[in-house]
Amino acid sequence: MITRFAPSPTGPLHLGHAYAALIAHDMARAAGGRFLLRIEDIDRARAKPQWEAQLLDDLRWLGITWDGPVLRQSDRLPVYRQTLEKLWQKGLLYSCACSRRDIEQAASAPQEGVPLGPDGIVYPGTCRDKGRPRPGEGLPDTALRLRMDFAATATGFDETGFDETGPAHRGRHRIDPETMIRSVGDIVLARREMGTSYHLAVVLDDAAQGVTHVSRGEDLFEATCIHVTLQRLLALPVPVYHHHGLIRDQAGKRLAKRDDARALANYRAEGASPADIRRLIGL
Ligand code: GLU
Repeated sequence: MITRFAPSPTGPLHLGHAYAALIAHDMARAAGGRFLLRIEDIDRARAKPQWEAQLLDDLRWLGITWDGPVLRQSDRLPVYRQTLEKLWQKGLLYSCACSRRDIEQAASAPQEGVPLGPDGIVYPGTCRDKGRPRPGEGLPDTALRLRMDFAATATGFDETGFDETGPAHRGRHRIDPETMIRSVGDIVLARREMGTSYHLAVVLDDAAQGVTHVSRGEDLFEATCIHVTLQRLLALPVPVYHHHGLIRDQAGKRLAKRDDARALANYRAEGASPADIRRLIGL
């Protein structure tokens, strides 16, 4: 078993992160497997070295040890580009110049409002035909979207699915091509300012790190159909998924990076021990 924790260094780790990290860590250790750490720092505007240093320190303090070197997404941009180049040459991507506002306006239906999928607004397809690759043209430096109609109708797609071991959705889940096309749509695989997207990076990295069990928060369950579609498209192995519950505040809201009051650093400053943290989050 190989699990991983994949934090973004965009703020302090809070109790929710401690929970996610400990579950993935304990799962691997209990099985005699490996636990890996990956820093998801592709958002150059928000990722900061001081957050990374702090999170490594918090994890060590919690008693978490990881196997092998830390993988940093910012070191992997050429790998993401290579994959995009391949998909572009195959005609599976198109270049998109729409702003968020353009998409909102084009997508809103008079009665139903804006259709929302696991990746936000379902893209109305404005650039689908005009952004296609022309013969001999290299990968453009624009946002790139996936032709979901091509991706979800590839031979054998009907068999595509994943095994979930988390408490809320345990069992086998099939990925339905119709749902992917209609309710997920042409997702962005490369943002202009990042050179990739979260979805593409996470799928390539889980495969590169040999992750067999992806343990992460319940909030990402809906995104898993996107990840499994990409694994299928790129002929990568599909790991087992384990989506765990979220740590919530007193009002029942899930903790966010800005909830600094729940930052591990604060508990540490007040003299809490790692065992106290485990107790607080019910482990
Ligand atoms: N970097 C993501 C986060 O901090 C986690 C992604 C994942 O586990 O797939 O929410």
